[in-house]
This record gives sequence, C-alpha cells and structure tokens, in this order.
Amino acid sequence: MLPEGIYLHKDNETIWPASANVLLIKDPDGAYLVDVGCGHEDTYVRLKEFIAGLGLSITDIHTVVLTHAHPDHMGAMRHLLEEISPRIFLHPVEIPLAAEPSRLDRTFDIDLALHYGINPFNLERADVNEYLSLDKSCPMARADATHTIDPAGELELGRFTFQVVVTPGHANGLVNLFEPESGMLFTADAVGDVVAWYSPSSGGLTGFLEGLDKIAGLPASFIVPSHGDMSGVPGEKIEKTRARLFRREERIIKELSGAPVSFPELLTRVFKNPWITFFPGSQILQCHLDKLEAEGRVRCHGEEDAWSVELLQGRNRI
Ligand SMILES: [Zn+2]
Ligand SMILES: [Zn+2]
Repeated sequence: MLPEGIYLHKDNETIWPASANVLLIKDPDGAYLVDVGCGHEDTYVRLKEFIAGLGLSITDIHTVVLTHAHPDHMGAMRHLLEEISPRIFLHPVEIPLAAEPSRLDRTFDIDLALHYGINPFNLERADVNEYLSLDKSCPMARADATHTIDPAGELELGRFTFQVVVTPGHANGLVNLFEPESGMLFTADAVGDVVAWYSPSSGGLTGFLEGLDKIAGLPASFIVPSHGDMSGVPGEKIEKTRARLFRREERIIKELSGAPVSFPELLTRVFKNPWITFFPGSQILQCHLDKLEAEGRVRCHGEEDAWSVELLQGRNRI
C-alpha cells in the first residue's frame, strides 16, 4: 500500500506506553523520519536496525518531522540528537512543549486528578515528568524545532507533497499528513487501533470530534496510524473511533441516570484501574462533562470537593 520510497517501522507493542510508529521517507540526500518513537534505549536500537535494513545509517537522517510533542513520538530524540543534528519540524503550538516538556503539565491537565483528591501514586505535585518516570519505558526528551509546520499548508518531504491537517483533542497541534497521489493518510494519534486519550487543555472531546470530521472529508484510500496497523478502509476506521467516543458518552450518561454523583465516584465507575483514573481517566471524563454541560445535558454543581454531576434528562436543553 505504501508508495515506493516510504517505509513504516512498527515497534513491538501498540498500546501506550508503546513506541509510536515511525515513517521513513527516502530521497537522494538521505531520509526524513516522521516521529522517532520512545526514548527507551532498546526502542532506539530497533529504530536504528530498521534504518540499517533499508541500506541507510542514522547519519543519513537529515530531517525529523514530529507529529506532536509526546514522549512515545519524540522520546528517542534524546539518543538521536547525540548522534546527529537534523532539521526538526513541529506545529507552532507544539514547539514550546518540545523545547520545555514541563509545559506538558498543562496540556495533559495532570493536576485534574489531584484537584479531585485522586492520588493513587502519592505524587507530591502534578508533574508530567514525575508521572512518566513511574513507568520508565517511555521517557520524554526535549528538542528545539528548527522549522515550523504550517498548520494549514503543505509539507514537502522528498518527492511527496503532504497536506497538513491538524486535529486537536489529544494534542492541540496534532499533525495528520495526507498524500493525495497515493491516498495515504498518516493519522498520528487521531485514529489508530486504540482511541487516544484526550484532555480539556489539549482540545477536548469537541476538538477531537471536529478533527475526525476533518479527516473523514479527505479522499484517503488508506490510513497509516501511529499505533497499530495500516487500514484500507479509512472511513470505517474513523467511524469506529467516533463510535467508541460516543459509547463512552452513553456510559457516562447511564451512570448519571440515578442520583447526582461526585466526580471521583463517577470516575471510578467509568474507569476501574487506578492508573487510568489518575491519568487519563480524569481528563477524559472532564472532556465528556464539558461537552455534555455545554449541550445542556448535565449540570455540574458546587466547587472543589462538593462537585457533583446531575443528568438533566431532557430539561433545560440548549
Ligand atoms: Zn500522543
Ligand atoms: Zn501516541
């Protein structure tokens, strides 16, 4: 399915904190990488083996395009930048996050769970890097962009011209790449074998759904995701993600059909695993409540600990 000159590297696992898929695009001067994968040393060794398997070496990589500044997509920059100094392309809103990863505290809304008194890991403060260090398999790296991706423009990578399509929700500057000639749509974390997490400060559920509408409108013939396998049925794949998001919404509405429920109680009913309730469960639930509240379907009462949610059952619908 992939056009000649584009190669896909999939690491061993597909589910977080697994390494994101890496695309390599050959040109006469060497090669481009789209994302570089996790920062674990073993993962980087496997990336280099993949590059070697194509008759190239790491020094042939002249350009790195990062779809967004998350550790599973750019963690390996910590090793790569020790060996080479490629051009680095990023969406403008992702540039400061890649340059100073502590800024991910805000886009991950990592303080939400602590705000509601949910702290299964006894973290002293809301700190993404501290959270990520709980699981050492995918540490974050920092990288300074040398080039800005035009969010509404095109990106020329070798002989290919990709249309840039930005889909917030999971990351404000999440870049999808569409190549009209082959019909290839690289969806990054917008669509894949799993539904990526979403948080209020990364674009929310509304942003996520609008992003799916955008990519569903492209004349794509196949999808290459960051996590999972390629798919020859783009429309089906996008619809599956949308359906999963709405199934989650229905589940939340069902849990609210009785008496008002506190945020922590609702959270543990929707997400059982404490890992998940801390992150990204709190953030995902907040996104759904924000959307339902804006639609006049739930009411969120009180502040701080007294916060609770009530289903409006058709009343006061906007
Ligand atoms: Zn991501
Ligand atoms: Zn990812």
